[in-house]
Amino acid sequence: MLDLASQDLSERILVCAPFGRDAEMIERELARAGLSPYRCSLLKELCRCIEDGAGAALISDHAFGRNDVAMLAETLSKQPPWSALPILVVTSGGGSTAETRSVIRELEPLDKLTILERPLRPDTLISSVLGAIGTRRQQYQIQDYVRRLQESENTLQTYLDNTGDGIFVLDSGTGRILDVNKRAIELLSYSRDELLQLSVSDIERGLTAASLHGFSEPQLQGVVEMEGANRRKDGSTFPVEVHLTSLAPALPAQVLAVMRDITERKRVELERAEEARRKDEFLALLGHEMRNPLAAISTSLEVLSDNCTPAQRLQLRQATVRQVGMMRRLLDDLLDLNRITHGQIELKKESLDLGDFLEKAAAAVRPTIAERRQKLVVRHPTKPVFFMADRIRLSQIVANLLGNASKYTGQGGRVELSGAVKDSDIVLRCRDNGQGVSPESAERIFEPFTRGHMVRDSYGEASLGIGLALVRQLVELHGGRISVKSGGAGMGSEFTVRLPLIAPQGSQAVTSEPKSKAATQRAQSIVIVEDNPVVATSMKMALEQAGHRVHVFSDGPRALASVDGLKPDAVVLDIGLPGMDGYELAARLRRKSKVRSALIIAVSGFEQKPRAESRGDNFDHYFIKPVEVSTLLTLLSNNFRNGAKSEASKKHLKPKKSKRAVRPRVLLVEDHPFAADATASLLRLEGLEVRTALTGREALEEAPKFRPQLILCDMRLGDMNGLEVIRSLRSNPATKSTHAVILTGFSGTEVREFNRRADEFGVNEFISKPLGRSMIRKLTARLRPQQRDAVHRS
Ligand code: ADP
Repeated sequence: MLDLASQDLSERILVCAPFGRDAEMIERELARAGLSPYRCSLLKELCRCIEDGAGAALISDHAFGRNDVAMLAETLSKQPPWSALPILVVTSGGGSTAETRSVIRELEPLDKLTILERPLRPDTLISSVLGAIGTRRQQYQIQDYVRRLQESENTLQTYLDNTGDGIFVLDSGTGRILDVNKRAIELLSYSRDELLQLSVSDIERGLTAASLHGFSEPQLQGVVEMEGANRRKDGSTFPVEVHLTSLAPALPAQVLAVMRDITERKRVELERAEEARRKDEFLALLGHEMRNPLAAISTSLEVLSDNCTPAQRLQLRQATVRQVGMMRRLLDDLLDLNRITHGQIELKKESLDLGDFLEKAAAAVRPTIAERRQKLVVRHPTKPVFFMADRIRLSQIVANLLGNASKYTGQGGRVELSGAVKDSDIVLRCRDNGQGVSPESAERIFEPFTRGHMVRDSYGEASLGIGLALVRQLVELHGGRISVKSGGAGMGSEFTVRLPLIAPQGSQAVTSEPKSKAATQRAQSIVIVEDNPVVATSMKMALEQAGHRVHVFSDGPRALASVDGLKPDAVVLDIGLPGMDGYELAARLRRKSKVRSALIIAVSGFEQKPRAESRGDNFDHYFIKPVEVSTLLTLLSNNFRNGAKSEASKKHLKPKKSKRAVRPRVLLVEDHPFAADATASLLRLEGLEVRTALTGREALEEAPKFRPQLILCDMRLGDMNGLEVIRSLRSNPATKSTHAVILTGFSGTEVREFNRRADEFGVNEFISKPLGRSMIRKLTARLRPQQRDAVHRS
């Protein structure tokens, strides 16, 4: 039964029967039917209740006073459009009396009016009231449905308006724009009304009504994608990606066009293409520029092997040294540029005296300048001016500028280097009267790998377009800026570097030129462990020339076997040694009483020094190849001067008990010993514990014992295929879930295709060779959870 009393106001049955027996009978019968009416004494009250909400109104004709029907009609007319409150009027005369006729006349057009005639039969009363309530409920349901529909339409509209794409509904017959979202309006800068007057060909260069036409045919339904160009109201255009979808059969003859602004993507594509072009050009140039000094060196060596005079010998030697210097400078510049780009260069500022600094910088280029019969003038304040800067990097800046000035200035030309304090800056100028810089080049020459248009007559020196890029980066690292001025072709050029003048504090205001390293030499016993015979021999010769006794070993085990008898003062060792790498060798040497206090110097082809806390703490010095012989000699003479090592440094000679750091274990399966060695060293530099297997079979034996967290397996091994190795390892519980990576020689696109099917092969991922450090870091990052597990278990 319905319990309307407990329902909300909108379901109330309002009863207004103030006179006669109607009220009593109505209340009784409604109560019997389980309905609880709400009684209103006057029609005025009933009208108020209608405004608050009601399910139906039951009114006795006696309730209507003067103007009451009009009042009720007015109240009902204010209902919302969906609402038609059922009104039941109890009357005696049917439609025949004048009062009833007036009620019917006024109320009927508005509402659902029911006339109940006296004598009122209970059944008729109850069924009429229930019918009225049912009707009213339907109205509420419809209203609810409409409201939800409206809400969902609003939500949909919000989605459409907030997408990043312009959405257009088009008439496929005429191409007219039928509807648009907010983004479309923003993209094209038209108003909505203006757009609805236009056709697709007005806003999209590649589309016409005709091109849409066939597309709405049911048999052609689908999605068309194309690139095009949208036209804004002001006539300007921008690239778009267009997706056309037929809306048939739901909306026949309509096409949905989604236009995505791809300006940014196009810009990046262009940039990448330009980058790729510059890279290709650079590589070609690098090959070319490296070949010149190499050709000079190889010719010199060939001539040297014949019986030539001492004067010729000296000349050839000088030429070779110069070519090697040039190649070294190029490589250093390249590596420095790369380090700066990766934020790996930190300045070590010290106090410099401007005049002193400029004189020394100039001295370094004087021989070249003299050879070219050029004139070098240096100007600086006569009084000392102290400022803070990184001596080495600032020297690099000035050397590059002076080098260029000489290189791009003809024989007999003039180069001027000056330094002064202006406002709160140190201003360095390098001016020449050489070939000059064209205005177009001036914009670009500070970009990496960019050469000027007028590169010619550079005395055969390499021109790779990296010097000025490096100079700019170094200047900016100092908080300064660089600019170039030139009168144009043949008018010379002037490069200006401005650095903020940072004055040294107090006692630091002294030029801190490193003290002369010339020190008494004593014949020392030196062990070299180096597997490259050319490097080993040349180093041996250089150290022997300085009076030392030198012994060379090509690997760790051989060196360990003989080293006791040699009592070395110093050991110079390579890192990437076959079998046992430089780290392990250093650790073992440190355990030998005869070697414990020797100076151990690592000379590595790898760029980054290992972190002290990992494996590099047995080295006294760590150098990147090539290391200058003079540097080694200075270290050796310092070693001699210091005699036995100080207590402080002795502490560190004892192999430290390493903290129990859990390093991820990696099994490297690679059949090429050199590649295996190099990759293993790289992995170790990243702090990983590495074991190498040179065959698939060896990997299958080693893996369950070593329990690696990562397996890096070459695709093609001598005895098996890398995929077979991984498949076998997957069936062993110890290596079932080890992260397995296949290293391939395939290109990036092919590797992507493999990776799509990695699951099929039972492999975690495929990576193309060579394995770089950033990729090793990514792989290690992916291992972290497993590492944590390992620590947790241990
Ligand atoms: P590189 O000299 O190896 O080409 P740089 O980055 O040092 O590379 O210089 C970029 C370009 O700037 C050079 O190719 C040259 O065209 C121009 N340039 C640099 N310095 C001078 C100079 N002093 N006079 C004329 N042109 C110069």
